Amino acid sequence: MEVRNRYAPSPTGLQHIGGIRTALFNYLFARAQGGAFILRLEDTDRARFDQAFVQNLYDAFGWLGLTWDEGPDIGGPAGPYVQSERFALYRKYARELLEKGEAYYCFCSAQRLEELRKARETARSQEAGYDRLCRDIPAEEAARRAAAGEPHTIRLKIPLGKSTRFTDRLLGDIEWKNDDVNPDPVLLKSDGFPTYHLANVVDDHLMGISHVLRAQEWLSSTPLHVILYQAFGWEPPEFCHLPMVMGQDGKKLSKRHGATSIDEFRRQGYLPDALLNYVALLGASYEEGKDIYTLEELAERFRLDKLNKASAVFDYKKLEWYNGQYIRMKTDEDLAALALPYAAEAGLFGKAGDEGSPEDRALFTAAIALVKERISFLSEIPGKLGYLFRDPPVPAAAEFIPKKSDLARTVRLLEIGRDLILPLSGLNDADAEALVKERAGKEGVKIGDLLMPLRVAVTGARVSPPLFGSIRLLGAERSLARVDGALGVLRSPSADSACSTNV
Ligand code: GLU
Repeated sequence: MEVRNRYAPSPTGLQHIGGIRTALFNYLFARAQGGAFILRLEDTDRARFDQAFVQNLYDAFGWLGLTWDEGPDIGGPAGPYVQSERFALYRKYARELLEKGEAYYCFCSAQRLEELRKARETARSQEAGYDRLCRDIPAEEAARRAAAGEPHTIRLKIPLGKSTRFTDRLLGDIEWKNDDVNPDPVLLKSDGFPTYHLANVVDDHLMGISHVLRAQEWLSSTPLHVILYQAFGWEPPEFCHLPMVMGQDGKKLSKRHGATSIDEFRRQGYLPDALLNYVALLGASYEEGKDIYTLEELAERFRLDKLNKASAVFDYKKLEWYNGQYIRMKTDEDLAALALPYAAEAGLFGKAGDEGSPEDRALFTAAIALVKERISFLSEIPGKLGYLFRDPPVPAAAEFIPKKSDLARTVRLLEIGRDLILPLSGLNDADAEALVKERAGKEGVKIGDLLMPLRVAVTGARVSPPLFGSIRLLGAERSLARVDGALGVLRSPSADSACSTNV
């Protein structure tokens, strides 16, 4: 059997982790089986629809680098792939069910249904949903009333007194009593629009979907869908309801736990491949002892029988670890290109949005090596490298003073440091270290004490990217100017009065 599966989002919200996980598992399964992965927009809920959410979907998938084989943007043999362009089809199929006696016209007004709901609430009745009032109207009479223009919906006539069975690839055999299924749900609304159930089943059938992989929250709709397939006389697809994604407190993952929308992860400086790698593990296993996978490697290993029944727990710390790993796996050039938008947005090269001159960008790329090992997010990079692009303000004198030292000794340490700048600017790390060691020995000072004021003077902070690399990138002239500025502050009378010995 040819595997065909789909991601069928409703554009009523931003793309989030749960949706991406569903899409990714469908993608991997299709790839693993040599099948086709389809994107279908389920935009029947016109009240909550927003074109911005469609754009968000394309942006999110474009950024992630996940593609489909058929879809609204690229077409395909089973199109159109947008439900609002298929309304005539749903009407046709709803009529077919009416003719077969598997569905019926319902003339109950919204007001009656609301009164029914309220009356049950007052009576604390367990019953929910429609009371099937119109189910027994003789078909001819109902057809006449509908033809005369009486407002109506079309409802599915659920066969009562029976059970519906299906096998879920993950959860096993599932059986529901039909009497417990949502009572005779609406298939076609009074405005002629289909409901999710009708459109979803008709499309899965017409698009030749062989496997429905979707989140477990849809499980309660599946008996109804199976009944619909039977009513049409169609073979249902295979179902596989994916484990839920939870926060660490065991509740469904939501904004309370942290970022959930793909936009937000992107803004925070996650790499798309790190995010995909982590999301691929939410409820699935691949290979013992292996953490890092490319999409191709995941697709080679993805199997439905390696899915977990238990809910997946979304661990932000683990994702952060992945992000750090992926950052370190990039070449400096690739990382610089990925980080450039964050640097531009943060105003690293001037005004916010400014992408910098070719010289700026060359410096940025060269500086990536200084921070690559120390960051978890791309968004951290501009904050860490600001001192290379703008002279930082000279910190207060106390900042320069090493532990157990004082201002006079610090001035002396910085003067020695100043001496070293010219040679340091031309040496690699190992040679630079040897030089500093030798000089510290000669002066009888600790290496750390020698480097501390120099670091504060050159980078503007006690904690900074590596000092030798910074001096090399800034060059001797700019480094010396900063040290001279710092010496000016340290030698001023106000510094003296502001400082006592650092303990
Ligand atoms: N439109 C539904 C959603 O928003 C699709 C559910 C399904 O995959 O059947 O997730």
